[in-house]
Amino acid sequence: MAWIVDVPALERRLADATRFQPLVEVVKAPVAAPLTVVCEGRASKTRSELGVEFDVTPYGQTAIATRLRCERPHLQIARQWFTPDGSILAFLPLDGAEGNSVAVVWSTPQEQLPQWLECDDTTFAQKLQEISEGSLGTLELIAPRASWPLQQARARRWCGAMPGSALTGRQEWWALAGDAAHTVHPLAGQGLNMGLGDVAALARILGERPGWRSVGDMKLLRQYERERKSALMPLGATMDALQQLFSRKESPLQALRNWGMRGFEMSGPIKEWVARQAMGLQPPDRH
Ligand SMILES: Cc1cc2nc3c(=O)[nH]c(=O)nc-3n(C[C@H](O)[C@H](O)[C@H](O)COP(=O)(O)OP(=O)(O)OC[C@H]3O[C@@H](n4cnc5c(N)ncnc54)[C@H](O)[C@@H]3O)c2cc1C
Repeated sequence: MAWIVDVPALERRLADATRFQPLVEVVKAPVAAPLTVVCEGRASKTRSELGVEFDVTPYGQTAIATRLRCERPHLQIARQWFTPDGSILAFLPLDGAEGNSVAVVWSTPQEQLPQWLECDDTTFAQKLQEISEGSLGTLELIAPRASWPLQQARARRWCGAMPGSALTGRQEWWALAGDAAHTVHPLAGQGLNMGLGDVAALARILGERPGWRSVGDMKLLRQYERERKSALMPLGATMDALQQLFSRKESPLQALRNWGMRGFEMSGPIKEWVARQAMGLQPPDRH
């Protein structure tokens, strides 16, 4: 399985890693630069200020995230359940192999949201215990509930000139990366990989540029946009198809999706294809 890491721990490691890098300077506010990479997440304010249209397709589902303490250890296994009403419940193991707490992501139909946000902690934990078939024993809620509407979204433009920069005589450019450029359903856990794929592609394209080209070169930025859009298109279509399958209530489709998801979990090559597609990596050399 993938690593499940708390954001503050990741941020501490990133701060440590950059502290003694002479080429990295942490700034408190935006500075003038030939290229500004906007990676502010899906609700990016800068993207809106730049007037970039963000095409959003709501899935009609909301993710509720929280944490649980479980009676039994999770044994470092990530678990998912698909219910007849189209909900998807995921338990992601925390605190190492001996741990007994899990991060919860519960994608639930929009209309059920008020009920599950407003009910008391015990009722909520009991509902999750019921969906998870008691596989981790009695569950106890240990964090507040937070919620996000689930959507597939894609920015129409991923790069451009900073407004007004031409007037100063120093042309400045911007590019979008990560959730500021695209979001998908968390179903297959590929959101972060997609952002890492953007970073890798942009770094490679800029790193390979001839010395006379600036990092804010529109031709290179357009190359980045084209490359990532075409790499992510099949993945977006796959996630969309899976989401459609999971949201249907007909029993043959339920049987098919449970069979399909077990197959997906057991299928090393398909899972690997999805992750590599998200990161924009070439297929591994098998020889
Ligand atoms: C419920 C849920 C479950 C998910 N589960 C998974 C999963 O299992 N696996 C997976 O890979 N992905 C998952 N994702 C998706 C994943 O969280 C995102 O794809 C990923 O976090 C995107 O990273 P990002 O850096 O682009 O944006 P974000 O993680 O949103 O980070 C953007 C950061 O920029 C900061 N920021 C915003 N504006 C400014 C500014 N002006 N100046 C400075 N900082 C600013 C924000 O505070 C934030 O810290 C899930 C998403 C949801 C909603």
